[in-house]
Amino acid sequence: MDGKAVAAQVTEALKARAASLAAAGTHPHLAVILVGDDPASHIYVRNKEKGCQDVGMRSTVMRLPADTDQATLEYRVRALNDDASVHGILVQLPLPAHLDEQAVLALLHPDKDVDGLHVANAGRLLAGIPGPRPCTPQGCMALLDYYGIPIAGKEAVVIGRSNLVGKPMAALLMHANATVTLCHSRTQDLAAHARRADILVVAVGKPRWITGDMVKPGAAVLDVGINRVDGKVVGDVDFESAARVAGYITPVPGGVGKMTIAMLLRNTLDAAERAAGA
Ligand code: NAP
Repeated sequence: MDGKAVAAQVTEALKARAASLAAAGTHPHLAVILVGDDPASHIYVRNKEKGCQDVGMRSTVMRLPADTDQATLEYRVRALNDDASVHGILVQLPLPAHLDEQAVLALLHPDKDVDGLHVANAGRLLAGIPGPRPCTPQGCMALLDYYGIPIAGKEAVVIGRSNLVGKPMAALLMHANATVTLCHSRTQDLAAHARRADILVVAVGKPRWITGDMVKPGAAVLDVGINRVDGKVVGDVDFESAARVAGYITPVPGGVGKMTIAMLLRNTLDAAERAAGA
């Protein structure tokens, strides 16, 4: 599954929407808050800025030092909530350990929460009510859709249960009528679960960890992992061995990561259109 090509198609379609909204006086605008010096986070944020530029959307990045305190960060979030020119706010995670991530996410205005992480939006997802969905799982669903991979009635196994990826991924697959198993670090015989999967989503953060012998022949494998090994970016799936068995598989890089940015841009544009009453 070519995330780069599919993401390019998605963003191409967003350009026209962004342009017509701008022509009507609303310039879609994403604000990103980045705290600290994590090199990977700086790369992700640059890619998001570039994504905005490519589709003709405004972006503002607020870079704050690693020793920013909770009160300052919360003040910044509130200011962006109150800024009518900002349609989407993204707090780049992870935050430095001394900051309370949940408290910051809870402050986001749910309408501007373009990563779908506010509890109100997480609740909407579980209840099956429309709202911004977390970008990475949404990107995985868009890939399955693009490649016409059937979901209803299929066995879907998600490995990893983070709020950012695993949990919302499981919810989206469940709403699409898959039978979903959600695995985590306490799961017993993970390989047996993985081997049953028609759709296998891996979001753990362990380089090349799922191997071909853990994949069902013909399965669709979505590798969410981004790991740096000897200066190279690799996924959680051992692509070489898994690709021999899988029917579909995403590469890393060039897979899910590209889709994540495309979905972020789409969520921001959706928020801008809603704000403009479009
Ligand atoms: P996370 O918050 O660290 O969660 C990791 C999950 O993996 C946890 O639920 C953990 O289980 C589970 N896990 C750890 N060891 C395991 C084991 N031995 N067996 C089964 N499950 C195990 O990570 P995340 O934020 O979801 O991210 C996961 C990966 O995706 C990372 O590599 C991250 O960089 C990448 N990522 C990529 C994108 C993208 O755009 N492509 C976006 C977000 C994240 P417990 O809950 O039991 O601890």
